[in-house]
Parts: sequence; C-alpha cells; structure tokens
Amino acid sequence: MRKHYVFWYALLAAITLVAALFPAGLSGRSSLLQLVVAVVVAIVLPPVLIWLAQKLGYPLGQPVHCSRCQTELPLLRKPTSVRQGLLGGYDCPNCGASLDARGREVLANQPR
Ligand SMILES: [Zn+2]
Repeated sequence: MRKHYVFWYALLAAITLVAALFPAGLSGRSSLLQLVVAVVVAIVLPPVLIWLAQKLGYPLGQPVHCSRCQTELPLLRKPTSVRQGLLGGYDCPNCGASLDARGREVLANQPR
C-alpha cells in the first residue's frame, strides 16, 4: 500500500527539484543556498500536494480498487480512451469494468 505514496512522493519531489533548479541552471550560476532551498522544498512540498489532492477527492498516494470486484488497479495506467486520457480512469484488468480515476464504475449511458 505504501508503494503508492512512495511513488507519488518521488514523482512530485523530482518535478519540484527540477523546477526549482531549472532557473539556476539557465543562468549558469548556482549557489549552495539555492540547492539547499530546492532540496528542502522538494522534501516538504510533496506531502502537502498529496494531502491537498486527497482533500479534493483524488486518490493520490492511495491504492485504487475496482468498485465492482475490489481488484487493486495498477499504479501506472494506460488510457484506453480520450475520456481516460483527459479525466483519468481505468479499465479493470479483472472484470473489465470501466472505472473513473477514483475507482467508481462508469456506465456507458451515464452522462459525465
Ligand atoms: Zn473489476
């Protein structure tokens, strides 16, 4: 279960680190202070972002389960439709149910 949290933490930390160090890399001047600040931000920010996403109802850092058969869905998903690419979502590998990003079943005739 923790692998989901670790995965998102590492991903967000890497993005934060790159974003924080990019300006310094462009100007060609990088100080130790900038590096320390970037590392501290990369350590502190991901838990805040994950917490915020969970408050908004997104299962970031948590395993997602199929609402029909309770199978745990893979950490990395391949969108099988435009809707999944834009909004997130899954096709259950076990029962084939079409699920949204939170693991709830999406019915074909249900407007979204
Ligand atoms: Zn299922």
